[in-house]
Amino acid sequence: MLHTKPLNENDYELIKAAEEVIEKNYHYGRHHIGAAVRTKSGSIYAAVHLEANVGRIAVCGEAMALGKSISEGENEFETIVAVAHPHPDENIEYCWVVAPCGMCRELISDYGKDTEVILSYNGENVKCNIMDLIPEKYTSDVE
Ligand SMILES: [Zn+2]
Repeated sequence: MLHTKPLNENDYELIKAAEEVIEKNYHYGRHHIGAAVRTKSGSIYAAVHLEANVGRIAVCGEAMALGKSISEGENEFETIVAVAHPHPDENIEYCWVVAPCGMCRELISDYGKDTEVILSYNGENVKCNIMDLIPEKYTSDVE
């Protein structure tokens, strides 16, 4: 059972930023995920994912958003979200929230263990702490 919290106005604004970046930059076979991160200072950085011909070298939107934020000097994160943009043949009119993949769960938690993640859970958009999404996270620390 995941411990979740309801979304607030800031969270809806963050989802909107993720939607806007992918609506503006959607490109079939190149970019169909948008992500946005809110920093503790309140800034929002949004980015698209990078698809690749060799699928396993694709770079997720969450990683791109974190990198964009850090490149602008902001490295303390409050909340992150990713959305998927429909493909033309899917006959869907809207973007939807997607959960971070396993690699992004590692990355997000590496860069901030108190970061909140917006995801769809039991059919509803909610948020939870990143550490709840990666139990018994790998660490190189000796415990
Ligand atoms: Zn990912």
